[in-house]
Amino acid sequence: MARKGLLIDYEYCTGCQTCEVACKQENNYPAQRWGIKLNEIILQSINKVEIHYLPFPTELCNLCVARTDRGEQPACVKHCQAGCMKYGELTELVKEMEHKPQTVLFAPK
Ligand code: SF4
Ligand code: SF4
Repeated sequence: MARKGLLIDYEYCTGCQTCEVACKQENNYPAQRWGIKLNEIILQSINKVEIHYLPFPTELCNLCVARTDRGEQPACVKHCQAGCMKYGELTELVKEMEHKPQTVLFAPK
């Protein structure tokens, strides 16, 4: 079976944390456990400060296998209003990366 993963296109991520909450609800994680965690990247130069948001799955992410086995999207993908995440086969996701400037790919074991 083709290996699957999550493509995270963080160019338009607003840092809303909905993906974090959706994952917690899906998996019933308590307060200090996260399946995906938002990282804040601050780039500072002489006259400007840029803040980028990068949500990235943790070792607890199982790609929502129970949902995807039913033909549904992973909870984080479904609830991101900005459409920053895509679930699919790694070979297809890698092709998409070539056309997107700010992306990371997550592929668990
Ligand atoms: S990936 Fe989507 S849901 Fe998660 S913080 Fe960014 S905009 Fe919000
Ligand atoms: S795919 Fe599922 S388990 Fe993984 S980060 Fe998204 S919601 Fe959490």
